[in-house]
Amino acid sequence: MQNNISMPVSIYALGGLGEVGKNMYCIENEQTLIIIDAGVRFPGIELPGIDYVIPDFTHLKNNRNKVKALFITHGHEDHIGGIPFLIQNINIPVIYAPRLAAALIKSKLEDNKLQERVRIVEYDENSIVNVDTFKVSFIRVTHSIPDSFGICVDTTEGRIVSTGDFKIDLTPIGPDIELTKFARLGEEGVDLLLSDSTNSENEGYTPSEKTVLSSIEEIFSLTPGRLIISTFSSNIARIQQICEVAVRNNRKIAIIGRSMEKAIQIARSFGYIKIPDDSIIQPQDIKLYKSYELVVLCTGSQGEPGAALSRIANGEHKDLSIMPGDTVVFSSSAIPGNQLMIERVENSLTRCGADVITNSVLSDIHSSGHPAKQELRLLLKLVNPKYFMPVHGEYRMLRIHAELAQSLGLDSNNTFVLENGDTLVLSKHKIRMGYKVEAGNAYIDGHDISGLAQSVINDRKVLNEEGMLSVAIAVDTKTNELILPPTFYVKGLINQGSPKIIEECRILVEKSIRELLKGKTNFAELKQTIKVIASDFLYSKTQKRPMVIPVIMSKVE
Ligand SMILES: [Zn+2]
Ligand SMILES: [Zn+2]
Repeated sequence: MQNNISMPVSIYALGGLGEVGKNMYCIENEQTLIIIDAGVRFPGIELPGIDYVIPDFTHLKNNRNKVKALFITHGHEDHIGGIPFLIQNINIPVIYAPRLAAALIKSKLEDNKLQERVRIVEYDENSIVNVDTFKVSFIRVTHSIPDSFGICVDTTEGRIVSTGDFKIDLTPIGPDIELTKFARLGEEGVDLLLSDSTNSENEGYTPSEKTVLSSIEEIFSLTPGRLIISTFSSNIARIQQICEVAVRNNRKIAIIGRSMEKAIQIARSFGYIKIPDDSIIQPQDIKLYKSYELVVLCTGSQGEPGAALSRIANGEHKDLSIMPGDTVVFSSSAIPGNQLMIERVENSLTRCGADVITNSVLSDIHSSGHPAKQELRLLLKLVNPKYFMPVHGEYRMLRIHAELAQSLGLDSNNTFVLENGDTLVLSKHKIRMGYKVEAGNAYIDGHDISGLAQSVINDRKVLNEEGMLSVAIAVDTKTNELILPPTFYVKGLINQGSPKIIEECRILVEKSIRELLKGKTNFAELKQTIKVIASDFLYSKTQKRPMVIPVIMSKVE
């Protein structure tokens, strides 16, 4: 569309900057807003009781009428996991996704009974989708799951290319990365490039999936007994290779964990995993096979308490218990924060007599799917963007990626290391910073989709680390008399604060309340006083600041 009317385009992330997870990038002009990816982040134990972190959707809610489409680059959870939450909050008319991602999304929506809410349209490398003035096309890339794509958005103001998650694997398991397409886009002119920064700290090249294959083969050949391999169910490329090596080694495959079963079933139905039916056995038949005839694939590589591997390690799984001679492989690296949970599971497994392998090429899930420095350089050279915004990474990864672009000649004023919510405005092939949009975290606890506020998280942290003290009193509001002196209920305080300290604290609180009740006071003031007095006193004695919950009852006539 060549005309003189300027319709500036805003580009920003609601998730994915300063973190590896919950990817969500938006492209918006006066009339249209399109979203690229809607992921989750899996929190570590720093967020007690939280299952997922998703982006704050406030900005999208405020612009709900402009939201026209969601484009998905590939089927990993940090790109599709947020979809059930997103579509319950905002009407998304259509989701465009490549084949495998589309199947995974459909199954996810069916699980949540949401399949009627949204239309899913598959795309491939030949598709072109027009959304108002945005023209969207796709570039096939190589990554750790089949059907991964980069996305090109042509707007009235210029061209934006996002790589999606990728690595440049010249001997891939599936189709090749379309390097020539990146080069052609670059030759025609790319105004802004968004590129994957996950592995920007690594020198050289990320090893090809073919290399991973040989280390899987090595593990199989070195293991005489049962082999139990735990990985993410979304790591289809890895599962595919493990299954194929298992078949070649005449081992039967037992799959434990619902998400793993589902992923394998979907991938097999599309031919991404090619194994004969009789190679797969039911978990209850594990006992019918000799050790060297078996490989078990299971979920729980992050030590998640409810997942298959934890249950197996604790002897709580009905079909599989660990015995000496078993080898357990953790085929994914620890997500920061999960280390403790993983160690707990490793210890239980070892105690049962298993050999535990945690450090192998197999465990390097992030490095295996994402580009190292040389690949990033090559992509930057091919696309040759005018402006550059590193994405998909923690701050230092984004920073290093930006410096790498500068070392190739990109002006430092044209590279943007941003935070979620920071906005770039593209107008007539020029970019400037715009206003910040609202972007934060929302926390998901179980299936409650409303998302918890930060204050709830803070409360849980306090409860977890500092304990809790509830103080109940009863007051006759007519006479200002204290009917029931403070009753303390202590939970989780180290040493329970020793009875002596608690009694001292109680006396102090009672004294202050009686003092207050002599004059004119109200519930808010009473509560505040209880909180401050108790909290300060306990801190002075125990160096802990438990959550103080005052409960005031009043006499009813
Ligand atoms: Zn990915
Ligand atoms: Zn990703």
